[in-house]
Amino acid sequence: MRFEFATAGRIIFGEGTVREVPAAAAAMGTCALIVTGASPERAAPLLADLEAAGVACMPFAVAGEPTVELILRGRNQALQAGCDMVIAMGGGSAIDTGKAVAAMIANAGDPLDYLEVIGRGQPLAHPAKPVIAIPTTAGTGSEVTRNAVLASPERGVKASLRSASMLPRLAVVDPELTLHLPRAITASTGLDALTQLIEPYVSVRANPMTDQFCVEGMRHAAEALPRVWADGGDREARSHMAWASLLGGLALANAGLGAVHGFAAPVGGRWPAPHGAVCAAVLPHAMEVNVRALRSRAPAGDALRRYDEVARLITGQPHAAAEDGVRWVGELCRRLEIPPLRTYGVTQADVPSLVQQGAKASSMKGNPIVLTEEELQEVIAGSI
Ligand SMILES: [Zn+2]
Repeated sequence: MRFEFATAGRIIFGEGTVREVPAAAAAMGTCALIVTGASPERAAPLLADLEAAGVACMPFAVAGEPTVELILRGRNQALQAGCDMVIAMGGGSAIDTGKAVAAMIANAGDPLDYLEVIGRGQPLAHPAKPVIAIPTTAGTGSEVTRNAVLASPERGVKASLRSASMLPRLAVVDPELTLHLPRAITASTGLDALTQLIEPYVSVRANPMTDQFCVEGMRHAAEALPRVWADGGDREARSHMAWASLLGGLALANAGLGAVHGFAAPVGGRWPAPHGAVCAAVLPHAMEVNVRALRSRAPAGDALRRYDEVARLITGQPHAAAEDGVRWVGELCRRLEIPPLRTYGVTQADVPSLVQQGAKASSMKGNPIVLTEEELQEVIAGSI
């Protein structure tokens, strides 16, 4: 047995833990770029406490998912203010923005010099500045991953800026921050969390340590997601989802992903669809095609046995088979009113180009079996 595992420098989990951020930040730097989502007023109490702790704050609110241009704007603002660290509080967009800005404060040039797939993919010359990541959704796991997903609107695809030094110095996962999430965002981010537990578990890069995180996370997400959908104020279920999301981040950062995230890269790059919503729409179709492909081409392999285990964990049925898990996920998506991709403007005419782009995405390399062009078509056509 040989494997590697890397994560954030420190993780604090629990209700009310956001109040521990100012003291931790004061030990890391003197001026912080505060990256938030579209509602920066939610971070106002944190800002006041940071200033009181002697950390100067420069707010930077981001409305949508990060682009190359947004990162350059954040870097300029941080450099002008003399920021030596970044605190990102929000969903995956805010946290990825914070991580990318922290990398680009320390490194000259354009993000495209370092971006995978669409850029030059050079390694960062200097380590990223310290980041404190505080998720306010239960879905991305970005607080414990080493990449930031950036969109390049002119290229119509998303790609990652990735470096070991981009792992946040501190991740603070406070489930209280998710209590007031709107229902649709609870559903889409929650299904992203579930996807980020299933894909690393069946990934070709799975390891014994990530397996443990996935098993624990799938069990919690499957039980808690219908509960937070029914009652957003269910504190115990919110806490279980925050835990499951963190576990997904720990797993995906070390074991990779699969076809769902492979397609999320071009769909999210070409249409204004939130990442979680794209993953939720694609997940049941990717599972169905993967399981069928494994049954016909690798029936004795480890991956199919893993899909059986996924089914047992999420359905709670000790004798469930892979196909039962596929059915359960499809029903959950219907119950949580996950809209198909056509809602965002994707049409069947886009299938060939999406197949071409999805096949090249970095996440596709983790898929448990190499899917044929026809199978990739089936996955994405079914999701539209
Ligand atoms: Zn995801």
